[in-house]
Amino acid sequence: MTEIADLQNRRLAEQERIRYLLNSARAEEEASLKGGLDTVAWVKEEQCIGCDQCTIVCDDDAIELFDAPLSSPILDIDVNKKARVLRDPCTGCKLCVLACPTDAIVMIDR
Ligand code: SF4
Ligand code: SF4
Repeated sequence: MTEIADLQNRRLAEQERIRYLLNSARAEEEASLKGGLDTVAWVKEEQCIGCDQCTIVCDDDAIELFDAPLSSPILDIDVNKKARVLRDPCTGCKLCVLACPTDAIVMIDR
């Protein structure tokens, strides 16, 4: 009969395996994005739901939210904010791209 301790050990091993796979996928995604000082982030306004995640991760204060009383076509909720990138302070670090839950941010050539 399986002991509780065995189940807990299996669970921990599975957690570790899943964490490793997720971290690998994230590292791969990050490596595949272009970035750096020759690039700048760009918000695809129609996909932005104004969730504010990008402004939280941006260390360079390069993103601001502005009023936009529109519904998002990808989620059936009313949103009244959109994000926009300020070109000059953006350092091309890509953090906002990875943080955005709706894939609304892309990196473009400066
Ligand atoms: S790429 Fe980096 S610096 Fe530029 S807006 Fe995104 S988080 Fe900010
Ligand atoms: S994280 Fe994405 S969806 Fe959220 S405010 Fe920023 S651009 Fe918009």
